[in-house]
Amino acid sequence: MWWIILVLILLLSLIMVYRITLRVGDKVRTAKVIKMSLHGKKTAKLNKQQCSFCRKRDKKLAFYSDEQGRVVGVCSVCRPQAERRALMRL
Ligand SMILES: [Zn+2]
Repeated sequence: MWWIILVLILLLSLIMVYRITLRVGDKVRTAKVIKMSLHGKKTAKLNKQQCSFCRKRDKKLAFYSDEQGRVVGVCSVCRPQAERRALMRL
């Protein structure tokens, strides 16, 4: 009868190993997806909008409407400058 217990233990350990490898495979897959999405973000970086004041590219621009009614994107550094000009925040 002892061999049944042995086989059971073997089976259980096999299942455990199978589960662990599955989980690792999932991790690798998600890592790949993250890498791909990061790559996508890199290309999006090229499309980043320029600050209308300092011409620096920033991912978070605040948009204001200037005296001529034009929309200007302002980076966080130049935001006080825009506020001083009393531009309308969009
Ligand atoms: Zn700026």
